[in-house]
Amino acid sequence: MEKVDEIIQAKWMITCEEKKVLENHSLVIDKNLIKDILPIELAAQKYSATHIEHFATHVVLPGFINTHTHLAMNYFRGLADDLALMDWLNNYIWPAEKKWVSQEFVHDASLFAIAEMIRGGSICFNDMYFFLQQTAKAVDISGIRGAIGMTVINVPTAWAKNPDEYLAKGMEFFQEYKNHPRILTTIAPHGPYTVDDEHLLQIKKIAEDNNLKINMHVHETKDEIQHSLKNYQMRPLARLKKLGLVSPRLIAIHACQLNEEDIKILTDGKPQIVHCPESNMKLASGTCPVARLHSLGLNIALGTDGAASNNDLDMVGEMRSAAFLTKHTTENPATQPALDTIYMATINGAKALGLENITGSLKKGKSADFIAINLDDIETRPLYHADSQVVYAASRNQVSDVWVAGVRLLKKREFTTLDEEAIKTKARNWRNKIMS
Ligand SMILES: [Zn+2]
Repeated sequence: MEKVDEIIQAKWMITCEEKKVLENHSLVIDKNLIKDILPIELAAQKYSATHIEHFATHVVLPGFINTHTHLAMNYFRGLADDLALMDWLNNYIWPAEKKWVSQEFVHDASLFAIAEMIRGGSICFNDMYFFLQQTAKAVDISGIRGAIGMTVINVPTAWAKNPDEYLAKGMEFFQEYKNHPRILTTIAPHGPYTVDDEHLLQIKKIAEDNNLKINMHVHETKDEIQHSLKNYQMRPLARLKKLGLVSPRLIAIHACQLNEEDIKILTDGKPQIVHCPESNMKLASGTCPVARLHSLGLNIALGTDGAASNNDLDMVGEMRSAAFLTKHTTENPATQPALDTIYMATINGAKALGLENITGSLKKGKSADFIAINLDDIETRPLYHADSQVVYAASRNQVSDVWVAGVRLLKKREFTTLDEEAIKTKARNWRNKIMS
């Protein structure tokens, strides 16, 4: 018998390595890594563990990777709704950010957002915001995994006055955190309409020199396309291609508003695509042609976007919206089956971030990042197929337990690293300040 730290026995298991649901399997954990996955009775013969826990009515899966967030915008949830993107940004969000965003704001709001994500089963996020060290501190306090983008935008904030200052502060952050075990730095030009050619070329060089992903909103709205045609006489993707930015290094967020020429550029360049169906639907931005891009061999991950445009960081809900939207727009119910949608919310996110050797699926040698969802509720009974139950019937409130890097961050729905009451009090206080 080999001695290990922990054995998690699960009624159902979705590894996101093989396209099926396993039954009565054990996840064997040792030194914060996945050591083995095998039937419960075989694990009992092979391993002895300090801690063995049986999840009799649960499905265990890798945990969600929310591949597009603006965490600190959680404090603007519900501040301004029912508006088009540019009206929403110019007249509500950018002025509010200018007035309120500070070190303390980003710290408190990031922690608040991370609490929401952990309890909803997310084990990793991909963020674009300001005051990056504060988000990193929230990662350290909570124990979650995260990619933090060095935002570059031609809009002044309390964080930086111009693109050069954004870049300088971003690089300072990168140097400070490049060896952190759970933080990945990306470079994050906000969008084609907010960063000029000169800075995009500079960003490309920095990304190549330091092997960083480029995280960028791309083809979100019709306005963005019009702006590009007016100012650059070409569509945003054509311009990014001309500048040499369309490659697997690029994480293209949204990818709505695509014509045949754009789809050809994506097919040739193979960037990572992040689908944000709820934000796109709420802002009426357009629809990412997920089924088409998938058939062309592109990797498509899933993100919620910020809570000001969604209005939650709920990856379970996002999966359902993604599946329904694809079926609805293709008029084909067979597109995007449940397991494909779960892949989109897990391993595809890891691939988009270049973290697929560390997280995103249950596989020997990977980090012990996983969650348990209790399917023993009226809402998810009777149970024929655990995968379809997760995507089409479950809610995030059924996520019972969350582990990141072998540490249990949520235990029977209670936080182990965060003070829920303190987080709620701070959110209330900030709301009162913003409204005064
Ligand atoms: Zn966004």
